[in-house]
Order: sequence, then C-alpha cells, then structure tokens
Amino acid sequence: MIAARIKSMMHAMQFLVKRRRPAAAILVMEAMMYGMCAAQPAAPVPAPPPRVTPASRVVQHKLSPLANQPVWRKLESFRKVLTAQEFEAAMRDFYADGSAFTPPWQLGPDSVSVNTGDPDMPTVRIDFRPPNEPPVKRERSWRLASELPPLAGRPPLSDAHIAIDPGHIGGAFAKMEERFLSFRQGESIQEGDLTLVTAQVLKARLEALGAVASLVRNTNEPVTSSRPPEFNNLALAILKDAGVAAPATGYDGLSGDAKVLTVQWQSEKLFYRVSEIRERAKKVNQQLKPDLVLCLHYNAEAWGDATQPQFSPVNHMHVMVNGCYAPLELEEEDVRFEMFSRLFSRLHEAELPLAESIGEAVARTTGLPPYVYTTRNARRTGASSYVYARNLLANRLYECPVVYLEPYVMNHEDTYRRLLLGHYVGRTLVNGKLQSSAIEDYVNGIVDGLVRHYQTKRPG
Ligand SMILES: [Zn+2]
Repeated sequence: MIAARIKSMMHAMQFLVKRRRPAAAILVMEAMMYGMCAAQPAAPVPAPPPRVTPASRVVQHKLSPLANQPVWRKLESFRKVLTAQEFEAAMRDFYADGSAFTPPWQLGPDSVSVNTGDPDMPTVRIDFRPPNEPPVKRERSWRLASELPPLAGRPPLSDAHIAIDPGHIGGAFAKMEERFLSFRQGESIQEGDLTLVTAQVLKARLEALGAVASLVRNTNEPVTSSRPPEFNNLALAILKDAGVAAPATGYDGLSGDAKVLTVQWQSEKLFYRVSEIRERAKKVNQQLKPDLVLCLHYNAEAWGDATQPQFSPVNHMHVMVNGCYAPLELEEEDVRFEMFSRLFSRLHEAELPLAESIGEAVARTTGLPPYVYTTRNARRTGASSYVYARNLLANRLYECPVVYLEPYVMNHEDTYRRLLLGHYVGRTLVNGKLQSSAIEDYVNGIVDGLVRHYQTKRPG
C-alpha cells in the first residue's frame, strides 16, 4: 500500500517538474516522505514567492525558507585552493546527484563561475590552483585529527572538540514533530528524547577519553525562540506558490496529504525543521566552533497512522556526509552558495573517513545491516556500504565536518521494546531474550569509531 502511494506521488512529482512547478513538486515529495526520519526531503519546503525590490529593475531572488541572501564575494577567498581535477572529483564523488541538467555555474579549464542571481554581479569566479602550485592555506575554526597536537601518552581524544547534536526536540513537541511512537496505551518512545539521552551518555564517554564535548541542545525544549504562529504568513505564501489556492488553516481531523497542505502543518514544519536547525547552526558556527558535529538520530520505516502504528519487519542503519545536491535544490541561491563553500572547504575529505570509521563501528556494535536507499535524494560514497551522501539542512549549514547518524528502525518490534527501557548497562530480558541497551550499543559504536579514527590519523 505504501509502495503504491509512493509510486503515484512520484508520477505527480514528475508531472509538476515538467510543468515547471518545482515548488509544488517539493510539496508532493514531502508528503511522500513524511513519517520517516532520514527520509526527510533535503529541501525542506519550497522557496517563498520572489521578493521584488523597489528599484526600477526587478530582482528575483530564489532562497530557501528563512535563508539570508548569500554574500557571494566570500567565494572569491577560495581562489587557488583546489585544482580543476580536485573540483571535478569532489563534484563526481560527493556533490552531484547524477542528474543530467544545465548547472547554474560555468566550468572552465582554470576556474568555475557560479551564477549568483544578482544582476549587479551575475557570476562569481573562483580560480583553480595550477597543479604545480602549493595549495593556498585558509583560516578555519575546525581541525583534522592530523592537525591536533601530539598525544604524548594522553587519552586518545585529547584536544578534540566534538559537538553532539541530538536530533529533533522531543518533550512536549514530539507529537508535532511526528516523532512520537506508541503501540500500547501508557508506553511510548519519542525520537527527540532518545537522542538527548544518547547524547548525554556519549558526552560523558567522550570526556572520559579526553575530548571537549558540547551538546547543541541539552533539554527537550527548542533552541529557537520562534514558535509556529510566527510562520503562518510564510506557510500561506508557500502553499499558494505551490498552487494551493485556498489552503485550510488547521489540520484537526485531517490526515495524509490533506494534512500536509494546511497552513498549520507547514508553519509547524518551518518552526521545528527550519527555524530550529538554523538556530542550532548559529550556535555551532558562532559559539561552539567544534572540530566535528555528530548529529544523532533514530530512523523509522513508515508506520502509517500515528494512532495505529505498524511494526516494520526490517531494521537497518546508515550514516551520512553532506552531498548529493538535486538540480531543484541548486536553483536556490543560498543552497548553491553553501554547496560551493563546503566543497572548496574540503569538508567532504574530512567527513568521509570519520563517517566510514564511525559507520563501520556502529554496524559492529549494533549488528545492523546497511540501509539501501531507493530514492534519488541520497547516494553511496566511499568504501563503506553504510555511508551515504545527502543534502540535509544540518549537515549543509554547520561549517565544520558533520557525521549524521541514522541507526535503528524505531518501529521494528524488538528495537521498539529495547528503546522503551531507555539506557542501561549490561543485559536484561527483552521480548524473551537477554538483550543489551540499544542506546548503549549506539554510544559504544560511535566511541569505537572515533577512537580508531583519531588513533590512526593524529600524530603520536
Ligand atoms: Zn531523526
């Protein structure tokens, strides 16, 4: 039933893209994916209608929701950082999603010129480094393991600053976030609460190994001070732009697509998925400035109606680095700017070995098989079958290496029952078997993967 629904929506999406209605197509894509954690679409909501300047000429900016206009000249500071071959390899191995399209940039033998959307400066040019010249060193806040001071007998994660981002909000917001799961009255799990407990256990372990560990969120309250009603007008504009002439205000009594196409659902999503992540990005980039962010999540398979959820027979895991930008996403100026900033910052080179080490270690401690995407919003990259590249708001906005983890299917019956017990050490009887804590196995995998990475990559 779910497969049939996805198939019919894919047809609707292709039809809308052909008719140059990308905003509506993204709404359809979103309706298709909702209910699954990692399967959140990369572009969270379509761009609001173009703003018109008071000047005599009309400037149409295409920005993703709540984004600021990029300062395009910043890209010029990347001149002579990458060779043409390094640029093309990064594009091929990480950032491209495999679509055939005319990109909003022009690639020459010595430079790439990126379209800005600004008539005063239609393109910004980034010169490549000739292969025989040494790379230009740029100032940055994060450090690779190889750039840390020698260990000199200290604990293996000494000096490393690792920020832990517990996915979602949890608490009183879990139902709004569609991250509340209950199969019986009186019992439930909420992804935002599970990620917070996991983050707190992980923080103590990392500190014991010498790391400086910070939590991007340390309560089950939002980091953003905004709340959904602030986004009602923007939600209305987004729906109208997508061709919904008179959207319903509230979603009480509605479900499925009808619910998604209401002002309430859209404004709530702008709150918990866009405003919240943008505020976390400010905290990471301006305040914490870590060497690495670990985004912790728990995955799920579509569970149907929240009041009558279904168990999933499958269980799996994967981890993500940033990449796999869709043509529709690259039409948005801020997204395009951020992709070029990440690519020229060589963030993919920093993220991949971390993601491989952590992914393989979490696979060992949890025993989970790799998730295999059947949609085009993610692509495999590197040597591990557990590692995918995907463009998510958090791993695009955080200006440092990010490893985004998605182990476990929360509505897999055995996993659900283990998660109901929260965090514990040792084994206890779950579903008729002696089983370890799913949270403990998750934490142990991350710690193993990090220690292996830092031990092999940093100077002794
Ligand atoms: Zn999640």
